[in-house]
Amino acid sequence: MANAQIPVVAVGPLGDGPVQVSCPQCHQMVLTQVDYSSGLLTYLFCGGLFFCGFVLGCCLIPFCVDRLKDAKHTCPTCKTILGVYKRL
Ligand SMILES: [Zn+2]
Repeated sequence: MANAQIPVVAVGPLGDGPVQVSCPQCHQMVLTQVDYSSGLLTYLFCGGLFFCGFVLGCCLIPFCVDRLKDAKHTCPTCKTILGVYKRL
């Protein structure tokens, strides 16, 4: 099976902001580092705006809005991915 997914350590409910968790990898209390990546909702928004008749440039706006993006939590100490918060 070609599963290219990065192993994710689930540490509990994650929001779209940094949370304090006990890292299962390095066993320290850390404040997660959050990376925002364009998720499904971003693309839906993009498509939605596009079909509403916005000019091409406007439909790229969702890609600049962190609120619409998936939040990936990583441990700042050992860089382990602790979880991904998805919008959908
Ligand atoms: Zn860690």
